Formats: sequence, C-alpha cells, structure tokens
Amino acid sequence: MQQPDTREIMTLNRIVVGSVIVIFLVVIAIYLLVFSGKTGQYSDFEDYVFGTYIQIRISSKVNPSTVSKAIFNEMKRLEKKYDTYSEGSIIYQLNHADDWVEVDDETLALVDLALKYARQTEGAFDPALGRVIDLWGFSKFTQREAEGGNFTVPTLSEIRDALANSGYTKIAIDYVSKKIKTNGVWIDLGGMLKGYALKRGYQIAKEYDPKCHGFIQAGGQIMILGPKYNKANWVVGIRDPRGQPDENVGFVYLKEGSIATSGDYERFFIVDGVRYHHLIDPKNGLPASGAISATIICDDPVTADVFSTAAFVLGEKTWLFTRTAFPTYGAEVFLVTPKQKILKTDNFALYEQADR
Ligand code: AMP
Ligand code: MG
Repeated sequence: MQQPDTREIMTLNRIVVGSVIVIFLVVIAIYLLVFSGKTGQYSDFEDYVFGTYIQIRISSKVNPSTVSKAIFNEMKRLEKKYDTYSEGSIIYQLNHADDWVEVDDETLALVDLALKYARQTEGAFDPALGRVIDLWGFSKFTQREAEGGNFTVPTLSEIRDALANSGYTKIAIDYVSKKIKTNGVWIDLGGMLKGYALKRGYQIAKEYDPKCHGFIQAGGQIMILGPKYNKANWVVGIRDPRGQPDENVGFVYLKEGSIATSGDYERFFIVDGVRYHHLIDPKNGLPASGAISATIICDDPVTADVFSTAAFVLGEKTWLFTRTAFPTYGAEVFLVTPKQKILKTDNFALYEQADR
C-alpha cells in the first residue's frame, strides 16, 4: 500500500487545526452576539435632559448603547416639543394664541390626559399653572440658577393676577377637529413630562428587546425595565428630604413599575430664611406647605409622576383624600410631613418587604 508522504500529513493537520480554530472563534462570536445580554451584565449611560441627570442601566441582547441612545433621543424630542417657555414648542404656540390651535395626536392625548389627572386629584395637579410657575421663576430654573439666581418673591397682587389667568377648567379640547384653546392660561406639563418620557423609554427598550432588564432614572423618578439579573428586586432608597442626597428615610423593593418622588429640595430658593419651592398650590399660587416630600409607587410612570406632585400639594391636611383616592388608580403613597412624620397608604408596606 502506498504510504502518504509526511508533507501531505502536515498539510492535512494544518487544515484540521485551522478549521477547529475558525469554528471555535465563530462559536464564541455567535455566543457573544446572541447571549451577551442574557449574562446579566449591565451597561450604564448618563446624560442630561429635562434639567436633570438621567441614568440608563440596561442589559439587552441588542447593543445597549443603541437602545440607550434611542431612549435619550426620545427624551430630547419630548423636552423640545413640550417646553412651555421656549418659542417654537407646541405648548408655547398654544399658550400664546388667542384662538383654537390645531395639534397633533400625541399633544391632544397628553393634554387630555393632563385634564383627566386634574379632575382625579380635584385640581391639586393642575397643568394650567404656567403663568404662576413663570412668575415665581421656576421656568428655566436650572439655567437661571447657573446664571446666579437672583430670585425674588412675587407680590400677592402679582400672584392673584397670574392665578386669575390659570386653571385647567379653562382649557377646551375639540376632539373632532383636533384643536385646543387655552383661553388665556399657560399650560405647563412639567409635572408629568418626565413620567411620560419614562413611559416612552420603556416602550422603546421593549421594542428593541422585550427581554431587556434594568432601569431608567430621571431626577427623582425611576422606571424599571425588568428585575435585576432578570430575577431579583431593585432596592430603591427614598431620599431623606432634610438629609444629604445619599441619606434615606426608607427603602422599597421593586421588580417592575415606577417610583417617583416630588420634594421641596429639588428646585427652591431661600429669601429671608424662607424656602420657596417649585410645587405650587393651585388654590393660592404659593409653594404648597403641607408636605416636604411625596413618593408614589405605580405601574404606570405617568401616574407616578403626576400623583407625586398632587400628593405633595394635597399634603398632610388632605391626607385622607389621598390615602382613599390614590390607591384606586393603582398608586401607593409615602408622604413626609413638614414635621417629618411619615404617612403611608396601606399597601405601601408591601413594597418595603425585602423578600417580595
Ligand atoms: P415634579 O418635580 O415631578 O413634582 O414636578 C414639578 C413640576 O411640575 C414643576 O417644576 C412645575 O413645572 C409643575 N408644577 C408645579 N406645581 C404643580 C401643580 N400643582 N400641578 C401641576 N404641575 C405643577
Ligand atoms: Mg411629578
């Protein structure tokens, strides 16, 4: 029998070894592409929008940076479109028109939703306080603060005039011709826009990868994308309104949904030792004084955002309304009173159990 010569054997060996290496590398590449997101490794992204830092922590089979950029771009789009005080935004147009203004479907739905929330909270959440908020200087607050502040307390007659041209009941919607008329009030969606942006962020993340997990944090609100490592709770601290930013008055354990806090420490200025903050009581046009922070846990991030503002405004005195009405909309409340007493709705305690 004819023996293969040694050169042929060596070439054959090289082909075999080479093929094994190539197959090995291809398998690793496929593994990394397909399964990298499922190992539970998180990628972090940070940027700045709505006058606050946002953080996205995500594990996804789609490139996390692609998902995060898409979420961030959506937030930027909403910031621009619904900025009450910048010319060119749809809200600015509405607020400065004497007549009906035709709007797109998203704007009609958002304003309609804002009015619904105003009715649910008996006007504590009022999306038509733009003139009062502007008078106090809380429009473009971060920018003003960076420029040196110089905030002044408006006079009572200025507040009265601004209040006379405020109030959600003045807004009219024509659903057939898709038009809105503000009748002199200024719409300010600052109390619900972050929540809406978080809702859109969640939708975008799930469109890229329904199994992605992590969270999006924007200022005082978090939207959970999925449990930690796909199984565990995220531990969220409730900030101590009179402590340092890293001090907490409580902790909750969440696998889904959203948590939002409105606090008097977020945007404020001090004149003659008095703190004037950005959460306005629509009844008198003054910073609400019945709470120092309000936290809501709710599956829906828009409800969490709106109801945290409303619970703050309703405060300690109207607590019985808050604790009765808010859970019927799926919102559980944690309120810190001016004397730092903590009031909670019955089911809030469920979220405080670490072994949920
Ligand atoms: P948040 O920090 O989410 O509670 O939202 C606060 C923002 O909501 C403020 O900066 C204002 O733009 C707006 N706002 C203040 N008071 C009210 C109110 N009573 N109802 C609705 N929006 C309000
Ligand atoms: Mg809010």
